[in-house]
Amino acid sequence: MAVTHLECKECKAQYPLEALYVCEHCFGPLEVAYDHSAWNGDVAEVRRKIQGGPQNIWRYADFLPLAGGPPGPSGRLASRVGLPAGCTPLIRADRLAERLGLREVWVKNDAANPTHSFKDRVVSVAVTRARELGFQTIACASTGNLANSVAAHGAALGMESYVFIPADLEEQKVLATGVYGTSLVGVEGSYDDVNRLCTELCADRDWAFVNINLRPYYAEGSKTLAFEIAEQLGWELPDRCVVPVASGSLFTKIARGFNEWRELGLLDGPLPRMNGAQADGCSPVASAFAAGHDVCRPVKPRTIAKSLAIGNPADGPYALDLARRTGGSVDSVSDEEIRAGIGLLAQTTGIFTETAGGVTTAVLAKLAERGDIDADERVVLVITGEGLKTLDAVRGTFETHTIEPTVEAFAAAVPGTVSV
Ligand SMILES: *Cc1c(COP(=O)(O)O)cnc(C)c1O
Ligand SMILES: [Zn+2]
Repeated sequence: MAVTHLECKECKAQYPLEALYVCEHCFGPLEVAYDHSAWNGDVAEVRRKIQGGPQNIWRYADFLPLAGGPPGPSGRLASRVGLPAGCTPLIRADRLAERLGLREVWVKNDAANPTHSFKDRVVSVAVTRARELGFQTIACASTGNLANSVAAHGAALGMESYVFIPADLEEQKVLATGVYGTSLVGVEGSYDDVNRLCTELCADRDWAFVNINLRPYYAEGSKTLAFEIAEQLGWELPDRCVVPVASGSLFTKIARGFNEWRELGLLDGPLPRMNGAQADGCSPVASAFAAGHDVCRPVKPRTIAKSLAIGNPADGPYALDLARRTGGSVDSVSDEEIRAGIGLLAQTTGIFTETAGGVTTAVLAKLAERGDIDADERVVLVITGEGLKTLDAVRGTFETHTIEPTVEAFAAAVPGTVSV
C-alpha cells in the first residue's frame, strides 16, 4: 500500500500530500488516497508482518499516510517514536451482555492510551506527518481529549504546542493538559467558536493544526481502531459497532479501515452495522437520521458529554450515509441515561469511562431494549475515554458510609453483615 495523494471527497479533484484540507473547486473535505496496485494478494504474509510489528499503531504503518521510508529492525522509524498509541484491550463483556439480553459484546477500551483517550491515535499520525512536512509547532482546537494528546505529544517530541479549548471545559481535562507545558488558551465560547478561531489562525501561521490543516492525516489515525478490532477478533469482522459521534470522523474512519482490509482480502464478510451515539444535548446527526435528512442542522450544545459537543459536525453527512448503508442508526441519549451508562459499564466490566463512553453504553442499551440487535450478533462497543477526566458526572450517584473506627459503628452503618 502506497499513499499517493489527497483527494476531494466530493468532486475527486487531486492534491499533493501537503498540509491541505479543503478542495479549492467545491470546498469539499480532502481525504488521503492510496495505490493498492502493487498488492500481491498474499494475505498470510501481510498478517505475519503486522503481527511481527511494534505493539502500537505503527504495526499498521503500511495503511497510514506517511512517507518515512522502510521501518528499521524494531519496526520503528525515528520520526515515529515519542508517545506510542494503540494496542488497547478488546475485552469480552459477558456480564454486560447478559444484563442487556445480548449474546456477545466486546468492549474496545481506548481509555488505555497514553493520554487516556482514542485521540492519541489521530494525534500520533498527524504529528508524525507534520514533522515529515517540516512543521516546528503543533496546535489544535479541542473539546478536551485532543488538548491532552497534542500537549503530551508536543512534550514527548520537544515541539512547541498551542492548545485551544472552550473556557468552560471539565477541570480534570484542563489540568491534564496544562501539566505538559503547552500554551493553553481557553476561549469564551463553544467548541464551534474555538474551531472557527483556529481556522482563521491557521491561515496566517505556519503551524500544524492537527485537526484543521493536517485533518486528512489526523483522520486516518482512527482506522487503526478498526484494524485492531479485526486483528484481536482473529482477523474477523464484528457484526455491529457502537461508536460515539462528535465530528463523525472516528465513526466513518472505523468503517473505512474495515473496508480497506475487505478490499485487500484481509477480511471477509459484510461491513458491520454502524451505530452512532450522541447526547440529546448535542445531537445534530441523530436528529437528521431520525428526520430522514442527508445533512445536519447545526445546534448549540448543552450536554455533560463535552468531548462530543460539536454542534456543526464536519463529517455529519458521511456519518448519516454510513449508518443508513450498513443498516445501523444514529441515536441519542439524555444526560441521565449517560450517567446510568457510565454506571452500567463500570459495574459490569470494571471499566470506568468518561461521559462519551456513557453515551455509547447508553445507546447500546437503547438498541438492545428496542430489539434492534439480533440474538446471534457479535457487537463491539467502542469506549473512547477515561472516567477520571469527567468525575462530576458520577458525583452523587452512590453513597459512602462514613463511620467511627469501631466494629459497632460499622455494624450500625452497614446492617446485615454477620459476624462469626
Ligand atoms: C473526540 C472524541 C470522540 C469522537 O470524535 P469525532 O470528532 O467524532 O472523531 C469520541 N469520544 C471521545 C472521548 C472523544 O474525545
Ligand atoms: Zn472538490
